[in-house]
Amino acid sequence: LADALAVLEGGLPMVIAIDVGGTSIKGALVAAGAEMVAVRRAATPHDGEHQLVTSVVGMATDLAAEAARRGTPASAIGVAAAGIIDEAAGVAVRGANLRWRDTALTRRMEDATGLPATLVQDARAAARGEAIFGAGRNADTFLSVILGTGVGSAVVIDGRPVRGSHGLAGEIGHLQVDPGGLPCGCGGRGCVETVASAAAISRRYAAASGEHLATELVLARATAGDRLAATLWSEAVAALAAALAAAVAVVDCDLVVLAGGLARAGDLLFEPLALELAGRLSLVAPPRLAAAALGRAAGVLGAAASALDEVGRGDLIRSWREMPIASLLLTDPFGSRS
Ligand SMILES: [Zn+2]
Repeated sequence: LADALAVLEGGLPMVIAIDVGGTSIKGALVAAGAEMVAVRRAATPHDGEHQLVTSVVGMATDLAAEAARRGTPASAIGVAAAGIIDEAAGVAVRGANLRWRDTALTRRMEDATGLPATLVQDARAAARGEAIFGAGRNADTFLSVILGTGVGSAVVIDGRPVRGSHGLAGEIGHLQVDPGGLPCGCGGRGCVETVASAAAISRRYAAASGEHLATELVLARATAGDRLAATLWSEAVAALAAALAAAVAVVDCDLVVLAGGLARAGDLLFEPLALELAGRLSLVAPPRLAAAALGRAAGVLGAAASALDEVGRGDLIRSWREMPIASLLLTDPFGSRS
């Protein structure tokens, strides 16, 4: 900690930011000017909690060593993680795709590196990244939705993702849209996620046709006129619109930022979704729909912002909001497709 404080007094902290997703773990050393000066990537272990934690902590210690080699010791660690996350306690409680078991992740990080660590839920970290650098930059209030294997989302007010009483504010993926629908990983039934996630579309197509296809292929069939694929896609869009309309009515925002694999479907998603939303909203004007700008880097940059909060350098985040979007952000160092 003495080293970390010395760096802070020098005014240019370097932070370690890590995003733990279901497929990969992405990490970066983020400098005071928001540059990702070193990046790391590893496949997410699925064989147990121990392997998962070892991999995440190993990446943090590796990046801490890299920062020391560069003569700019890291001052804090921010970790974004998928799953049910207790941000206040620094505990990754459980995950649909990750082997968390009430994992005290911040303590494990601090023990291994001697640096202060902070934990944030991944959808909220990505929303923060978009708020600072991306599609939400000029909006005080917006909804951020990630349409991937699941449906993750967050509500941003005054530039910050709202946490809520239980850390679940803005989670529209588990709003029930079909009381007689399929069971969901959350314990509920007929959630948005059981209809509108990429995994749900592929699964429902297989259940109805016997053919197991990747989601992109189902969407390609929908475009080509396959009636089953087109029906499942309109049901997905309608479920999403129903949840978004409710969220927009509660929050009163004029922007929804869409990220994740399904958002890359472009007009195939945006056009029918805008129409469905307009049909469902009367009092509140339909929000503008925008594609997320940062790709996979959003969660890492959001985690870096959390790390800076942890060491009392919110002033740097305000300066990030002012700076022209750096060229490094125009190319996603983690690639947008995997
Ligand atoms: Zn659910």
